[in-house]
Amino acid sequence: MHRAFDRTTDADPGAVDDRDVAALHNAMSEAADERRCALFLDFDGTLVEIAPTPDAVTVSPAIAASLGGLRNVLEGALAIVTGRPIADVERYLPGLSLDVCGMHGLERRVGGVTVSPEFPDLSAEISVLHDRLSDHPGVLVEDKGIGVAVHWRLAPDAATVAQDALADLARRLGPGYRIQDGKSVRELVPGTSHKGEAIRDLMCDPPYAGRVPVFVGDDRTDERGFEVVEEMGGVGVKIGPGETLASRRIDTPAALEHLLVRWAVGGLGLLDIPRS
Ligand SMILES: [Mg+2]
Repeated sequence: MHRAFDRTTDADPGAVDDRDVAALHNAMSEAADERRCALFLDFDGTLVEIAPTPDAVTVSPAIAASLGGLRNVLEGALAIVTGRPIADVERYLPGLSLDVCGMHGLERRVGGVTVSPEFPDLSAEISVLHDRLSDHPGVLVEDKGIGVAVHWRLAPDAATVAQDALADLARRLGPGYRIQDGKSVRELVPGTSHKGEAIRDLMCDPPYAGRVPVFVGDDRTDERGFEVVEEMGGVGVKIGPGETLASRRIDTPAALEHLLVRWAVGGLGLLDIPRS
């Protein structure tokens, strides 16, 4: 089986084999005119490499340009589905005004209309979390407005302290919230937020309705999204190694970037990627 389709590959995550990318692109393009896609893209670890801190990511000019082109190819059916707030996406992809499901779907900006709920009980607790973790300078508390994340990528020895602090906060706030774990990060978010539900909601209305959903992501928080799109007859695409509910796989964000650029100029056909 071709390496780019190999679910068990543990190839160098920094490597991009252009032959793999070209073969995958060709396989996708064969389906371009037959079935139309709605494309949902995670941000960190998918469109950009994960950085030591959330503020340290960089978006390549090619990614930004290809997203604008792809949105036109897909007649608007393209959205970023991320754990970050919408404001972060706007900061890293300025001027595109893309549809965004931020905060794992709690915040929505679709067709230029933004909906963002408030959670005052959580807001009051974030300063308490800051105080509790202030003795661990490598631990970053990220106030997302309607959620909070603790990152320990820079302080792996403090992982347990950070995890416990957020678990205690979850207990204080009660069942309206839930914890979700990512790569060196633990988040507390309102219990109603899931990327999968956000995708399902968007698929109910134009320009998404009637298309085949494709979701590309890299992390455990993307698994519900993979599950939903596969249930709907679409395609989940996992970036990188690891167990997943996605049926397809691409090795690195850099390889995805190659594909997005080519799809943007040559039309999109994503649905006949050979299964591993
Ligand atoms: Mg991600």
